[in-house]
Amino acid sequence: MATPLQPVEIAGGGLAGLSLGLALRRSGVPVTVFEAGGYPRHRVCGEFITGLSVDTIERLGLGPILSGVETYREVAWYLRDQPLRRQPLASPALGISRYRLDQRLADAFTAAGGELRPHTRLPLDAAPPGRVFATGRRPARPEWVGLKCHALNLPLAAELELHLGEQAYVGLCAVEPGRVNVSGLFRLRGGLELSRELALSAYLRAAGLGVLADRLARVAIDPASFSAVAGLGFSAPSRRTDRLEIGDTYAMIPPFTGHGMAMAFQSAEQALDPLLAWSRGDAAWDETLSTVRRRLRRLFRVRLAVAGALHPVLVNPVGQRGLATASHLGVLPFDSLYRLTH
Ligand SMILES: Cc1cc2nc3c(=O)[nH]c(=O)nc-3n(C[C@H](O)[C@H](O)[C@H](O)COP(=O)(O)OP(=O)(O)OC[C@H]3O[C@@H](n4cnc5c(N)ncnc54)[C@H](O)[C@@H]3O)c2cc1C
Repeated sequence: MATPLQPVEIAGGGLAGLSLGLALRRSGVPVTVFEAGGYPRHRVCGEFITGLSVDTIERLGLGPILSGVETYREVAWYLRDQPLRRQPLASPALGISRYRLDQRLADAFTAAGGELRPHTRLPLDAAPPGRVFATGRRPARPEWVGLKCHALNLPLAAELELHLGEQAYVGLCAVEPGRVNVSGLFRLRGGLELSRELALSAYLRAAGLGVLADRLARVAIDPASFSAVAGLGFSAPSRRTDRLEIGDTYAMIPPFTGHGMAMAFQSAEQALDPLLAWSRGDAAWDETLSTVRRRLRRLFRVRLAVAGALHPVLVNPVGQRGLATASHLGVLPFDSLYRLTH
């Protein structure tokens, strides 16, 4: 008789946790995912996915979850409300609201026999063998704030709009019919301690993006979609060697890349085989931890470093003017930068 597979527990039912849980279930591993929140829910996110390969989609069984999503092929850049450049994306991006994506993943995980415990926060102090930490971003200095809403029937100039403001950038894309996600990252400003409904407009105007704020003021907003998150930081990868961390818990790439969701999935993919080996009893837990860490480091090191270096340039007025000039002169290596950050 075959030895039973050892169960895996996952703290955090976001993209990394649920996609790993789903992939483990497809190999028969007993999995429980503990999620502090519930489904569906709106989350601060640009809701466009770049750099997700067909291989990763297949390996994790994400095909049905991503079926029928939007595809974007072009981006229009703006600097302080002025059109800067319109260009094809180096590779097509996918668009889907987190409201829908997280719900679809949760449904697929439970349909595959996974045990999902929503509204259950797992204490983070204990890290027994078989426990994976996919609890999202690590706490950081309160430097940045993320704000988002879904604007209804807002006309767009391109499939994806990216607006650079003073210490801010904002992305817009149609995620579902008639629904445009507007999501931005802003440096925290004193005096703007407002409700999430008022904060987005106030932060847009403070960042010199008044035209965009006016566009939003002319359309209806889904009131339930206003979301905010503070305490964001884009630091080095986690150095913890005593626990298995994936997704944003391992490292958070600056959002302008539109690549955090793909990295959440890729980190689940990297953890899959080592966890399967542990579950079968073919590898010790310590060995599993170091294998996953090594894989994540090798895969993400360069893109985290390059994106981390570009982030301050994108939000800083001097850096933005330099980018605008390079873009007008046609000497900005967009495709190379894309490859280095993905
Ligand atoms: C402003 C902004 C814009 C962004 N735009 C984009 C974009 O356009 N494209 C893109 O690809 N990425 C974007 N990202 C990044 C992307 O949202 C993240 O990289 C992605 O959500 C990471 O997935 P995750 O599963 O690691 O974490 P999450 O999706 O955050 O999931 C973590 C889960 O863990 C749960 N949790 C936390 N603690 C516990 C606990 N103790 N017990 C149980 N559950 C717990 C949380 O409730 C949460 O559901 C953006 C981020 C920000 C801030």
